[in-house]
Formats: sequence, structure tokens, C-alpha cells
Amino acid sequence: MLKLLVGPMKAEKTGELIRLVKRASIGNKNIVVLSPQIDERTVGEVIESRNGSKVKAFRVQSSDLIESFINEPVDIVFIDEVHMWDEGLVREICKLTDSGIDVVCSGLDMNYMSAPFEIVSRLLALADEVVKLTSVCEECGSDKGRRTARYINGKPASFNSPEILVDGTNTSVVYKTFCNRCYRKIGMFGLGGYPMKNVEIPESEAVSLNY
Ligand SMILES: [Zn+2]
Repeated sequence: MLKLLVGPMKAEKTGELIRLVKRASIGNKNIVVLSPQIDERTVGEVIESRNGSKVKAFRVQSSDLIESFINEPVDIVFIDEVHMWDEGLVREICKLTDSGIDVVCSGLDMNYMSAPFEIVSRLLALADEVVKLTSVCEECGSDKGRRTARYINGKPASFNSPEILVDGTNTSVVYKTFCNRCYRKIGMFGLGGYPMKNVEIPESEAVSLNY
């Protein structure tokens, strides 16, 4: 069984993953929690949500090392931040589920350009269960935040910036989340939020949100 918890940033995806880890622990399940080494926000062998809850986790450098963490019989493998893993993760997850191990993953479904993360779109196709979490829209305050926007030095990032850029490690990088309507209203990334790769956003179109 493959279950995915997806959504924009600030949707408490990791918080929900941690809640499920704690429930599995209460149920005496044998579990393994894995986190990509690339996520620099969390230091040490833990994963931590934005609300401050945390659980122990192995930090893993690449997906081909996952097998080395499954030494004993395991009921559930939890994998955080799936969009940050290398593409071999899909194969490793299939190996786990084919052997009868449940896998629960969390991650972003779309990048800052509103394009799907390749690896996550493949997992979405394979998943038995998908939970789409939302954030609070930072423009209208609704509970329908679905899009993540990246700001660099206070301005919407151009599409030339890398797909993965962890916030918190670089103070000039800030992420905000919006509902579909506000994302379109702000008009940062083109009509409907469709990706327009390698397009610089003219200064005149970089709408200030007065934050
Ligand atoms: Zn909104």
C-alpha cells in the first residue's frame, strides 16, 4: 500500500506524516522513517514539522541506500520530502510495496512554477491513497492554499532559479502559498499558473504584496 500526503508548502505535510508515525508506534508497528540528506532545514537524525513536532529519522543520501536501512522485518516505511529525492526513489518504493511493506510519503506536488515534480507525479500515479493537504492562503486567508510561490530578495523568482531551493538556509529565499484564485490574481507565473520556463518576469509585472 502506497499512501501519499501532498500539497504546497506550509500545509503541515510533515506534521501529518509525524502524526501517522506516532500512531504506528502506539500500534507497535515496526517502522522506519527516512528523510533526504538534501533537506538542510533539519539537523541530526530527526524530521521536524513547522509546528515543532519531531520524530527520529534516518537521513539518507540517495535512494539506492534505502535497502540498507531495512534490516529487520518492517511494517511501514515513512519517507519525507519525496520531491527532494533522486528519481531512483520510485523503483525503491515499488520494491518495498511489492514485498508487502506499506509506504507513506509526504512532499510537494508542485514546484514554485506550478509544474508537477516529475518524481511526485509518478508516485501519484502509483499511489493507492492520496491525501491533498492545503495551506492558509497568504493573500485572502482562505483554507484553500494550493500553490507555492518563491520570492528572492522580496521579488517573485524568475523561472531560471533551481527547482529545489531550501528556505531558511538562505534568508533571501522566502516561500508564500496562495489559493488558485489569488495565485492567478497576483499573476506572477502566467495565466492559470502554467509554467513558462526561462521567462524573466518583467519588473512591472512583479506585483508587490506589501508584506
Ligand atoms: Zn486566496
